[in-house]
Amino acid sequence: MIYLLEDEESIRKLVIYALESQGFRARGFETPAAFREALKQELPELILLDIMLPEENGISILKSLRKDPAAKFVPVIMLTAKNTEYDRVEGLDAGADDYISKPFGMMEMVARVRAVMRRASVKPARSEYRAGILYVSPERHEVKVDGKNVTLTYKEFLLLELFLEHRNLVLTREILLDKIWGLGVERENRTLDVHIHSLRAKLGPAGHYIQTIRGIGYLFSEDQS
Ligand code: CA
Repeated sequence: MIYLLEDEESIRKLVIYALESQGFRARGFETPAAFREALKQELPELILLDIMLPEENGISILKSLRKDPAAKFVPVIMLTAKNTEYDRVEGLDAGADDYISKPFGMMEMVARVRAVMRRASVKPARSEYRAGILYVSPERHEVKVDGKNVTLTYKEFLLLELFLEHRNLVLTREILLDKIWGLGVERENRTLDVHIHSLRAKLGPAGHYIQTIRGIGYLFSEDQS
């Protein structure tokens, strides 16, 4: 999902149309208030932010996003008619990932969105995963093993999702700890093992899909060798 905050209706429509035609899900907002309200409902994968807005300017919104624990890692591209070097530097200093000056072409905009997403290694959210007897829907927060519902905690769910995104690849302890619990967690921390243990138990007959790679980490594969 991509959010666009832009008060000019014609640009808003054009950008949303261009993004949707390239397979992205996108929502446009006219005012900072509507945008902030939507942020509480769903965190987007990328934000396109105009600078000249009613109520509050885009730079100040960007600064507040960067202080928000939930939204601070969401990539932001500034869209603006102000293209002096000063504004550009101010936007980048405030934490923007890229900058597009108006007027811009839709193909250029889409290309920059793709480039920023690639850099941020944001993958378009998958609507569902199937692996052997396992079914997972991140959208609906649903896990089924052999058609039966399984209830996971939030962290267990994140772990499983990470495994499914990197099927047949070894994920090191460092990567798992960093992605699920954040930086600063020690390698020797037992939290990961405890979660893997309970995740395997809850997955029952699909539990063995999560394989231990001794001394390194874990690997998810539904094909048993
Ligand atoms: Ca504007």
